[in-house]
Amino acid sequence: MDPLLQNGTSDPESRRLALLGATGSVGTQTLEVVRLFPDRFDVRVLTCHQNVERLADQVQEFRPACVVVGSVERAEAFERMLPADAPDVRVLVGPEGLCEAATRSDVDVVLGAVVGFAGLRPVLRAVEAGKQVALANKETLVVGGALVAQALEAGDGRLLPVDSEHSAIFQCLAGESERSVEDLVLTASGGPFWDRPAETFGEITVEEALDHPNWSMGAKITIDSATMMNKGLEVIEAKWLFDVPVDRIQVLVHPQSIVHSMVSFADGAVKAQLGVPDMKVPIQYALSYPARWPAPHERLDWDELSRLDFERPDLDKFPCLQLAYDALEAGGTAPAILNAANEAAVGCFLDEQMGFRDIPRAVERVLERLPVQADPTLEDLVAADTEARRRVEELPLPASN
Ligand code: NAD
Ligand code: MG
Repeated sequence: MDPLLQNGTSDPESRRLALLGATGSVGTQTLEVVRLFPDRFDVRVLTCHQNVERLADQVQEFRPACVVVGSVERAEAFERMLPADAPDVRVLVGPEGLCEAATRSDVDVVLGAVVGFAGLRPVLRAVEAGKQVALANKETLVVGGALVAQALEAGDGRLLPVDSEHSAIFQCLAGESERSVEDLVLTASGGPFWDRPAETFGEITVEEALDHPNWSMGAKITIDSATMMNKGLEVIEAKWLFDVPVDRIQVLVHPQSIVHSMVSFADGAVKAQLGVPDMKVPIQYALSYPARWPAPHERLDWDELSRLDFERPDLDKFPCLQLAYDALEAGGTAPAILNAANEAAVGCFLDEQMGFRDIPRAVERVLERLPVQADPTLEDLVAADTEARRRVEELPLPASN
């Protein structure tokens, strides 16, 4: 239904792939999909921030033409790690390197699996360069959704969702007309603290917050799932992907994570996409679309599955979700401020510099204090991001309570 997703629908035999964030959770699962279909992929680019040990192993196996690492020091460490007879590989560094790699002429498909704001610029450049972008990095659309939408409108670039909820909605929308869509219903697992009494949230440890009940993911998104900021970011992501007003994007807590999301239609019908929680399925669909490739991913076991529960989220207990709705409503730089304050606060929590309940407090305070700018350019978004992070670091937050 959506213009963002409709530029071209060719199904090339082999995809020349740039995998941004290859060493992370989505990155390594993408390479598992590539391993299943060696004839369908030519891995041209692999990137990582710090983990050059894992990158070196991936380079040995997938033989890309180019890699990108986070710093000159890491680039030197990477080169030391390669055996003398390793194939030639071009080594680029930092944000500029990511942009160069994502726009190479020998790349057709870019899978954006960098975490956080750092993923925005290379994804935007890839879309501008007319690439097909399979997007896991939701922060890109949270911060720069308007810029990405403009770039898609202006050129031949294409965007396909990797996030499981958005992949589910994309699959439910197949063959439907935009006019017949009533609501998008994003499901949320509720994270590890759905049942936990709010009075005890001050005692939540990093270890408890990193223990997600259904999904195995990187640290930042796992904490976002525990605060439900992840669902807030996904509401904003859905708004940009599917061009649906915010009051028609609902969230339902569904602790089993079997229904990945739903769409309700004008005639009262509701379509849902179901499956075991396994990111390889939406990753593969974003790469195989419009085809479906037969794959041995785990199947739903109907003998095991006894119930599916749905419940409205408790916004008092999980204020991050409301903050995200508010930031989307405010528009302009507000979602960029929300995202940056959240990234900084999650970093502080992971470093045990902040308590669990301080995350929404920090985001709320920074949003209250920073002015919102309408119609931001990329430079404005970078400035808002930098300022919001600085404000979090300056906050006099109590250790936790
Ligand atoms: P992760 O932390 O496991 O991996 C992040 C990757 O990005 C790594 O390869 C890392 O080296 C790289 N990276 C980190 N900081 C960087 C920087 N500043 N510059 C360049 N590269 C950098 O994260 P993940 O869980 O794989 O998530 C990646 C993205 O996908 C996130 O935006 C997340 O919200 C989204 N996502 C993840 C899942 C999941 O199941 N993990 C599901 C849906 C969406
Ligand atoms: Mg998701």
